[in-house]
Amino acid sequence: MICADVHNHTIASHGLATVSEMFAAARARNLAWYGFSEHSPLPPGYSCPLYKGDLAVTFPAYAAEVMALREQSASHAGNRPGWPRVLMGMELDWLPVNMPWMRDVISHYPFDYIIGGLHFVGDVPVGSPRCWGPEVERAERFARYDAYYEIMRGLAASGMVDVVAHPDFIKVCCYDDFQSWLALPGSTDRIAAVLEAMRATDTAMEVSSAGLRKPFQEPYPGPAIMRLAADLGLTISFGSDAHNTEDTGSHFGELAAYAASYGFTRSRICVGRERRVLDF
Ligand SMILES: [Zn+2]
Ligand SMILES: [Zn+2]
Repeated sequence: MICADVHNHTIASHGLATVSEMFAAARARNLAWYGFSEHSPLPPGYSCPLYKGDLAVTFPAYAAEVMALREQSASHAGNRPGWPRVLMGMELDWLPVNMPWMRDVISHYPFDYIIGGLHFVGDVPVGSPRCWGPEVERAERFARYDAYYEIMRGLAASGMVDVVAHPDFIKVCCYDDFQSWLALPGSTDRIAAVLEAMRATDTAMEVSSAGLRKPFQEPYPGPAIMRLAADLGLTISFGSDAHNTEDTGSHFGELAAYAASYGFTRSRICVGRERRVLDF
């Protein structure tokens, strides 16, 4: 059983629920560990059309609330059944054009862990359907996938994050094209280079149920990447990437069976930047 959900969002970015509502959902799911991992504030010049508020404005109050809950949950640990231990992580937007900004944003709060999320290739937000319209030629799409994994290799090699999020998130709006690219001879090598960088820096790979809630109903990452990760003996981390209370810990039974089918038996969480292994 997966007892930790360490990837979630709240109304501080584009989630639909507050910190306390998400925590109540984690309690209802009987999780032993619950990690908040709001997006990092974006640097000047970047914006996400999905965000309701400006994270540079909303983050301090959000962080204060999570830190108070974390303290409360630590003092209850073990003697208050039904209270998950709260962690504070952050999903860092990997934007290698702005390294000083990234270093600054992760040093700002006492995070338990940092998840590196790649959402932009250059200035293209790859999770937006608007970027995958019919006017985008196949060659351009494939070049985008190549670039995506090249940038992700830098993320994995940086050693700046504990977890690499949703390793094939780019498929979200273009699943079939991504599968065609994946079948090309060089694609596996590109992805293997990313996973080898994760192994070299001892960075965990996220296995996320968010993809199971999409029309293609496939976790992030899909089977080909899971196989490579298993062969390399990578460490994994589970998350739902929930943006509302209902998706908290969603499909975790299915997700555990999926990971187990590739031989994984344990996952990792970070508590005060210290790594802990959990059986599932
Ligand atoms: Zn993400
Ligand atoms: Zn996320």
